[in-house]
Amino acid sequence: MPSHDVLIIGAGLAGQRAALAAAQSGASVAIVSKVHPVRSHSVAAAGGINAALNPEDTWESHAFDTVKGSDYLGDQDAIEVMCREAPGEILWLEHAGVTFHRNETGHLGTRAFGGASAARTYYVADITGHAILHVLYEQLMKHGDTVDRYEEWFTTDLLQDDDGRCIGAVCRNLRDGRMEVFNAKATILASGGAGQAYKPTTNGLIVTGDGIAQAFRIGARLMDMEMIQYHPTTLAGNGLLITEGARGEGAWLLNAEGERFMERYAPNKLELASRDVVSRAEQTEINEGRGFPDGTVALDITKVPRRRTLEALREIVNIGRDFAGTDITREPIHIKPGQHYIMGGIKTDVDGQTTVPGLYAAGEVACVSVHGGNRLGANSLLDTLIFGRRSGEHAARIALHMPMPNTPNSRLDAAEAAIAAIMNRKQGGRRVAAIKNELGETMNQYVAVFRDADGLNKAHEIVRRLMEEAPEAAIDDHGSVFNQDVIAAIELGYMLDCAEAIVVASIERKESRGAQFRTDFPERNDAQWLKHIDISVNGADVPKVSYSEVTITRWQPEERTY
Ligand SMILES: Cc1cc2nc3c(=O)[nH]c(=O)nc-3n(C[C@H](O)[C@H](O)[C@H](O)COP(=O)(O)OP(=O)(O)OC[C@H]3O[C@@H](n4cnc5c(N)ncnc54)[C@H](O)[C@@H]3O)c2cc1C
Repeated sequence: MPSHDVLIIGAGLAGQRAALAAAQSGASVAIVSKVHPVRSHSVAAAGGINAALNPEDTWESHAFDTVKGSDYLGDQDAIEVMCREAPGEILWLEHAGVTFHRNETGHLGTRAFGGASAARTYYVADITGHAILHVLYEQLMKHGDTVDRYEEWFTTDLLQDDDGRCIGAVCRNLRDGRMEVFNAKATILASGGAGQAYKPTTNGLIVTGDGIAQAFRIGARLMDMEMIQYHPTTLAGNGLLITEGARGEGAWLLNAEGERFMERYAPNKLELASRDVVSRAEQTEINEGRGFPDGTVALDITKVPRRRTLEALREIVNIGRDFAGTDITREPIHIKPGQHYIMGGIKTDVDGQTTVPGLYAAGEVACVSVHGGNRLGANSLLDTLIFGRRSGEHAARIALHMPMPNTPNSRLDAAEAAIAAIMNRKQGGRRVAAIKNELGETMNQYVAVFRDADGLNKAHEIVRRLMEEAPEAAIDDHGSVFNQDVIAAIELGYMLDCAEAIVVASIERKESRGAQFRTDFPERNDAQWLKHIDISVNGADVPKVSYSEVTITRWQPEERTY
């Protein structure tokens, strides 16, 4: 049985940064990923990563922008930690080998991003996530003696001892279907977001909310789950992302009448207002008949000099050409708001500790909460790295002074029985993919940019029905080698758990704040709702709702205009 001081589930930026930190702190580490680590979804991150590194900029300014961007729901102690530590992290990455863009003077160059009062986004063309992920993986190789990599292993369940402490996980080797108990003194979930609960989404097929649901099922609290980010610039139909870097470089948003409509919604920041503000503006234009017949508005990247686009935005040149038949250097491209990110997740403190002893969480799976009601672009990569590192260090420190738990192999029985039950399902029922599609379309219809009680209740009804149908959904592959059918059936359960938590929290919050805009409660209501909504398991019933305080250190809530 694999036994390690620290078990890390997920090998994206958060997981790999946690693994490096834990290894450098002297711990033995296992890092598990259902795909090869450099195929983790962090590889898709495009536009960049924020830090107030420039001498004219300050971490306080970065922190205030983040607090304002969060619509005052972000916890300011955590935001201070993230913004204060950001410059050091960029320099660490640079020294580790990330080839950040350099300007004409040879210094690290920045681009502007939404909701920021200074250009503080460091980038590698529009492949920033790819560049960082590969460097972290190279660095992990140096720790081959103490870091065991379990690539293409799928975690099905977290394990607890009789006192409720997390003592590891059950994982399945995708290559041959073998199940193993992983014994660990501390476990860090770094398994990413839950975008596939929506259709379309900018997130890849692997982003299925596994860690959020696994932690929820063993009693960890979730927080801010109602806060789902719709990115302003995605392609209609397939949801592919056109990076905010395009607007950072100077692209305009236009309605079908050729009007630069952001002048009406955010006269100061225009296209570079916060994402929730821009997405609402676009959706309003579309709903009020000023969009194109395909339900979109236009992003005009021809405002950016062609040479600059070809140099700094080359991936979206390819996306425009291959997926929309548009040469973005010569004509506007049609875009619309699309599901992109979950601000909520497993509630943690600034060291990644969840409400379950021995269990940590970092990255998109977690909610520290630095993003509150709305994440600023380029703050997520930062969140993954800062809180990944802090979780790795903390978990290692605790683990080095603990005995190894002694988990009996019999803990495999329930997980193996669950897989056998999926394999033995009757043929002829509804397909896993059909249920997943209905879930995604439901969430995108009712739990999107604009919401109201009727739609949210309808969404909840549908999610509950799908939860009943999912355990019967038939699969075709009954083999053991790379059986993605069985994995998809398990992932569907995770997505449904996440969806229900999202819907329940959205119904609960009877105000409009950040990404949650309730047409039936259109105002922000600090007197009643300046608080986090926590969600926890309640047996087979609808999840339990409770509240926790928002931490305010120095920035009192103000009216939010851009
Ligand atoms: C298209 C796109 C562009 C973006 N651009 C930017 C940007 O420019 N700047 C920015 O700040 N943010 C950006 N974001 C957001 C950011 O990329 C993500 O929030 C961040 O990369 C998430 O990293 P993570 O380490 O938390 O998770 P991920 O990178 O998603 O990694 C999750 C890991 O968990 C593993 N895993 C999941 N479930 C299991 C399981 N059951 N068993 C075993 N392993 C499992 C996966 O294999 C993977 O290794 C972008 C997002 C998208 C979708």
